[in-house]
Amino acid sequence: MALVNPKSFLLKARKNQKGICAFNTVNLETMEAIISAAEQTNTSIIVQVSEGAIKYAGLDNIVSIAKNFSKKYKIDFALNLDHGSSFEICKQCIDAGFTMVMLDLSKKSFEENVTETAKLVKYAHKKNVFVEAELGKLFGKEDLVENIESVFTDPVKAKEFIEKTNVDALAISVGTSHGAYKLKFVDGLKQDIIKQIAKDNKDTILVLHGASHIDLDTVEKINKLGGKLKSTSGISLEDEILAIQNGITKINIDSDLRLAYTYGVRKFLKENGEVFDIRNITKAGTTEIKEECIKKINYFSKLEK
Ligand SMILES: [Zn+2]
Repeated sequence: MALVNPKSFLLKARKNQKGICAFNTVNLETMEAIISAAEQTNTSIIVQVSEGAIKYAGLDNIVSIAKNFSKKYKIDFALNLDHGSSFEICKQCIDAGFTMVMLDLSKKSFEENVTETAKLVKYAHKKNVFVEAELGKLFGKEDLVENIESVFTDPVKAKEFIEKTNVDALAISVGTSHGAYKLKFVDGLKQDIIKQIAKDNKDTILVLHGASHIDLDTVEKINKLGGKLKSTSGISLEDEILAIQNGITKINIDSDLRLAYTYGVRKFLKENGEVFDIRNITKAGTTEIKEECIKKINYFSKLEK
């Protein structure tokens, strides 16, 4: 079985100042594209689903797909709930077979976030499940999660939060935002905050959400093929690599995979007007996802020291 608690490969990556990619998935085809990219690069990754993706695909279906792929592929990977909104939903995922869960109570009070996270950590650790929490607020919209303002994470509060909850990983707000339309709200990453939190919490995995790069070329290519995406941009790769060197380990990527898929399908349909086999159309999208995942893994997980 290669479906694992990600603790050991995340801590190893943190020690070596490398990034571990966490890719969002919504179905069988995209999950296989992601896992086969991990296999091909011989690098562990995290596959994650939002509550929206669970509603779309079904909780048991997601777990079964992940378990079946863990038999087919040799590479270790984790299955994570991204932005769980309550202890209850996290518990459901743990009981169903997830090896990691994120409880995002960053919109609630600090005290409530501490209490609920600590409760979840106790439950999860008994079942060998890894837990991520979030402190600070990211601007933007990701599935069911939306914030209209950005609040950077306070390093003092982060230290207190980690001590009180014993959480394994913490998502921090340092200038990234959710969704594909980022540029006007992003003004570089707050590297000082990352450095400070990493220095204070040596055994905790720090997580960068909303870390898609949003390649302008891809957006343009999609629009040339009939797309109507607004011109936009995400986080610069240099900024992200610096963030990893400063202490970020888990890098969350969703929008870039959606763009890759959209490009693949639009291009295929334009060039193959006679095809209407669903398998071929979907494959055109997932082939692009796989390539995008390989690219990201090579950027972040193979960094030279
Ligand atoms: Zn997120």
